[in-house]
Amino acid sequence: MVLNLKHLYDIVGEEIPFDYVIPSDLLGSPSGRRFPDGAGVKGRAYNRAGVVFLDTDTAFVLETECDRCLKTFTKEFSFASQRILVRSLNGEDSDDYIVTENDVLDLDDAVISEILLQIPAKMLCSDDCRGLCPHCGADLNLGSCGCGGEEQ
Ligand SMILES: [Zn+2]
Ligand SMILES: [Zn+2]
Repeated sequence: MVLNLKHLYDIVGEEIPFDYVIPSDLLGSPSGRRFPDGAGVKGRAYNRAGVVFLDTDTAFVLETECDRCLKTFTKEFSFASQRILVRSLNGEDSDDYIVTENDVLDLDDAVISEILLQIPAKMLCSDDCRGLCPHCGADLNLGSCGCGGEEQ
């Protein structure tokens, strides 16, 4: 979704609400993680006293293989963010600012870059996942494999 910001920058009190879904194929599969339902994005861009804010609430389900036992599972994520939209920066250098070109904002890009920061490097199906036996490959969550690998 692309937002046209011309009125937003020029008119105090102006507001653009949005509530939509970024489709799975736009999100891709970073690090092998997948977004079966895409990502829901709700929020608004608004001009308050001449400063343009972008508020978003983002929610998505991540599907992945457990990094320890390889079982496929899903986990829900949601987060809120507020950033400031500017036509140009005057020395400010911060992740809180988004510089827009030609008074348009690619909202998908802005949200996706934040989603990628939310994805943990390591994902386990449960905190106490016992993983796979390094010797026979059995799923130790299902019980001891009995292969005797540990004694060798
Ligand atoms: Zn696991
Ligand atoms: Zn084993």
